Amino acid sequence: MPKRPTLLWKLYPSYLVVALLSFCLMAWHVSSQLADYCNDRAVNDLKTQALLVEKLVGERFFKDSSSQIDTMLKEMGSKISSRITVALASGAVLGDSQMNAARMDSLKGRPEIKEAMEGRVGISTRMSLTMDARMIFVAVPVKRGDAVTGIVRAALPSASSDALLWTNDPLFWVILFFLPGICCFYWSRRLSCAIGEFRAAARKFSEIDLGYRVDERGTSEFSELTDAMNTMAAELNFRLSTVTRQRNELEAVLSGMMEAVMVVDTDERIVRINRAAEQLFRIQQDRVKGKTIQEAIRHTDLHRFVTGALVCADPLEGDIVIIGDPDIFLQARGATLRDDQGRVTSALIVLNDVTRLKTLEMIRRDFVANVSHELKTPITSIKGFLETLKEGAIKDPENAERFLDISIRHTDRLNAIIEDLLSLSRIERDAERGEVALESRPVNEVLDAVAKACGEKARGKTINLEFRVKDGIVADINPTLLEQALVNLVDNAVKYSEPGKTVVVTAEDHPGEVVIKVKDQGCGISKDHITRIFERFYRVDKARSRKVGGTGLGLAIVKHIVHAHGGRILVESSPAKGSVFSIHLPSGQKTDAT
Ligand code: ADP
Repeated sequence: MPKRPTLLWKLYPSYLVVALLSFCLMAWHVSSQLADYCNDRAVNDLKTQALLVEKLVGERFFKDSSSQIDTMLKEMGSKISSRITVALASGAVLGDSQMNAARMDSLKGRPEIKEAMEGRVGISTRMSLTMDARMIFVAVPVKRGDAVTGIVRAALPSASSDALLWTNDPLFWVILFFLPGICCFYWSRRLSCAIGEFRAAARKFSEIDLGYRVDERGTSEFSELTDAMNTMAAELNFRLSTVTRQRNELEAVLSGMMEAVMVVDTDERIVRINRAAEQLFRIQQDRVKGKTIQEAIRHTDLHRFVTGALVCADPLEGDIVIIGDPDIFLQARGATLRDDQGRVTSALIVLNDVTRLKTLEMIRRDFVANVSHELKTPITSIKGFLETLKEGAIKDPENAERFLDISIRHTDRLNAIIEDLLSLSRIERDAERGEVALESRPVNEVLDAVAKACGEKARGKTINLEFRVKDGIVADINPTLLEQALVNLVDNAVKYSEPGKTVVVTAEDHPGEVVIKVKDQGCGISKDHITRIFERFYRVDKARSRKVGGTGLGLAIVKHIVHAHGGRILVESSPAKGSVFSIHLPSGQKTDAT
């Protein structure tokens, strides 16, 4: 781009030309006015002088004493600056204050002389051949009676010829160029600086430096412009900060949202996505912004949904599944965004991760199926035996008693399952409501109760049950629930151990937690099952569990109780060697109690 001249160099020459022209015109006008004034004064002076001389020479004039007149005029001429000439009516010069009268031509043809000859005061401004200068001549008639007998003429160099003399003075030219030059430069610069300041302000505003303010200027136009620009900047600043605040709020809302949000334009190009969407699709906004949804995310169902959302007038809903490990279930909602003229500009897609809900729903369905199945087995058996009895077996006392024993066993099993289910739902409900009352109590008390509850069963199976507990271990516990959990663990340890084996229960005080372990030398659990044994109704060996009277709910109850205590449960096990179940509880205060 060619460099444009600055305002200063545009303004300055034109200002200078105008100023010089004005200055010259003014100088010329003043000079001519001055010259006119001087000439008028000179005419008056000359007239007075001529009249005075006429009076002085009057009598001599008529006595024809021309030599006296010339002498007198020469004398006078040495004292005054004007030239006085006395001539006869014929034009012959009698005397002259500055020139040799004898050598002078007749004055007859001179305009002022002609006029004076007619009895009036003759005035003429013209070049004097004798003086070689422009002169003002004033001639008065010398009368005897009515007849003009002579002329007295006074002359001075004309002021108009001197009017432009001052142009010869170098000072004039210095002043002529220097003064307007300086003044024009000053004013051009002032204007250019003022405009420059507005330009700088406009540039600052365009760079979003809206705190910048233009300084107040003298003239009303500049002052108004300054006010307007400063007000505009303040208004822009306010609006920008409002927009920024709203954008930050929107950013915060979007990034704080659990739902994945994305905005796509009508070409299905990504305009923005939030953090949840970045995490969900493992993409980054910076990289996918401006790309089509097909380029950025490989998911046909999502592409179809986005296309549908852009063309659908009403909000669109749908389900999308991202196949993976694990599968992610999304509930999608899409709506179009429009501009102020109602044209569709983009679509807002909100994806809600409902995987947890789906999982919970699945767990609930499985649970209902499991419960039904668990209840159905004993009920079917009981019904079968009762029908057999009714059909005649009741009359066979030996079989009848056996059938009744089996039915009672199944009823006990039903009862156990229902008891466990009830206790599980009670613990869950209390834990959810925060109604599990914890108190700082010695763990020993609970273990004593467990020893009493499980001792008989262990002895019945010749299992050696040992408790190795240090005194004074205290934890925040619900003694009844913790006892129930430990009874379940010890009961399992006894159930799944062969006679003659040992089950050891230990309690240790670790920094920040109390660890209670139930260790057996039983059948152990393989790795594949360990992750699932805390699920409801999950059993490694269903037949064995049923045989030993298990409901499949014991460990689920233990897990919920431990969680209600704010603790965790861990399992270490190896098949055929045994298992260790450890309950880690947050430790309470130590007491002296044992
Ligand atoms: P159950 O009433 O069947 O014992 P649990 O929930 O108490 O149900 O246990 C779930 C499953 O975990 C059991 O069926 C069993 O297979 C396994 N299990 C639990 N405790 C032990 C243990 N100490 N040794 C070996 N297997 C165990």
